[in-house]
Amino acid sequence: MTNEKYSIESLKKQVQKTYPDMPEYIQALEDVAEDVLAPESSDSREVLEQNWRALRYLSEPDRIINFRVAWVDDHNRRRFNRGYRVQFNNMLGPYKGGLRFNKALNTSVLCFLGFEQTFKNSLTGLPMGGAKGGSDFDPHGKSREEIQRFCEAFMTQLARHIGPDIDVPAGDIGVGSAEIAYMFDQYRAITGKFSGVLTGKHPVFGGSCFREEATGYGTVYFAEHLVKHEFDETLEDKVCAVSGAGNVALHTAEKLLSKKAKVIALSNSKGTAHFKDGLQQDMLERLKKHIGKRGDLQEFAEQQDITFKQDKKPWALHPQLAFACATQNELDENDAKELIENECLAVFEGANMPCTSAAMQSFKKSPIIVAPSKAVNAGGVAVSGLEISQNRTRLRWQADRVDKKLQEIMHTIFEACCAHGKTGENSAIDYKRGANLAAFEQLSEALRWYGTA
Ligand code: NDP
Repeated sequence: MTNEKYSIESLKKQVQKTYPDMPEYIQALEDVAEDVLAPESSDSREVLEQNWRALRYLSEPDRIINFRVAWVDDHNRRRFNRGYRVQFNNMLGPYKGGLRFNKALNTSVLCFLGFEQTFKNSLTGLPMGGAKGGSDFDPHGKSREEIQRFCEAFMTQLARHIGPDIDVPAGDIGVGSAEIAYMFDQYRAITGKFSGVLTGKHPVFGGSCFREEATGYGTVYFAEHLVKHEFDETLEDKVCAVSGAGNVALHTAEKLLSKKAKVIALSNSKGTAHFKDGLQQDMLERLKKHIGKRGDLQEFAEQQDITFKQDKKPWALHPQLAFACATQNELDENDAKELIENECLAVFEGANMPCTSAAMQSFKKSPIIVAPSKAVNAGGVAVSGLEISQNRTRLRWQADRVDKKLQEIMHTIFEACCAHGKTGENSAIDYKRGANLAAFEQLSEALRWYGTA
């Protein structure tokens, strides 16, 4: 059932009245609306209107917080950046979502990430709302001391807006365990409290085992289910290309190696490292150390005599499975065409929204299966949810307990995608539709109980 009044266009128009210049956010909203407002999802005018109203309600962020972060550089000069926290929606639990330090960060990117996070957190089945924040501070080229001073200044501003029952941030691009430690320390100093106000902490001061690994490992657990379901095969010997060389990419590669897959590429914003004979575990260990010390992939490739293809992406290397684990909109229409021509089997969105809308349209017309970020990379926030539980009970779970729970959650998410994503054509699964509808179902149910829609 379609109706102009309750269409994707009318929804976009209303949102754009308040947020006229937010392309990334509109892209994310459209992605969800395409499934929620599809004729197959709304078989009567009444249901269509209900879904449209619920989505309109969910498209409005609760709060966009914006502040100046003043810090001092190594030359004793006062510098400043913009800091943000978008508390998107807390219907299902306290706001939860990462902090990103990246020079291209703006409110459009944060609204897209906060909206995505609301849906992703709903998929985990854990009581968490959605948020995202960060700063346009660029950590590249800064000293460790400058980063520490920036993190402290950032938390000085953010502290008044967060709390274990209010909003629990974590890491994201440019924010790893070191930055989380600096911010946690500052929060402790400001409030005088040792509380579970951030996740992604080191296990010695309240972090969960496996949080660092969780997003990448969860991505591979999801991939394992999909490959079994779709092709009745395992990951063994599958030729995999991974984009990025950060937290998600490196842990995706690590878990792929443990499943005996062949990882032929990693990348960064400068180009692609091509491991012709497949990445080996000992080399990955060295690379993790190198990146951990703020080293660069290209520099590492040169030191280790690995081919580094400047300005090239990994998708031209004929992978059977593509893991997009770097950043939003990194995989465009040309990349999609290349993957289709080279008969890639599936694309896994380890990063948030790494495929452009045009790439998604190309995939839709091809046999390639796309596993969407909301589902694929939900393992990170799921283990963050487990970290919150551990902090609440003042207990520390053993690694195997966390890993087992992560595997269970990823399996449940996979099943939810299958249950909601059946298209009718030979019961083929549309995983994007499955993830969007499963997450929307929880959120719209909460709305009904709150009496809001
Ligand atoms: P990191 O900062 O650890 O790593 C990001 C990596 O991506 C870096 O190697 C960076 O290279 C590379 N990169 C950035 N821009 C581009 C580009 N345009 N083309 C190619 N490579 C690029 O971030 P994370 O690994 O934590 O996050 C990656 C993605 O996963 C993001 O979309 C994030 O939102 C998402 N995510 C992360 C979670 C987590 O737990 N960390 C949880 C869920 C989602 P360079 O250094 O050259 O910029």
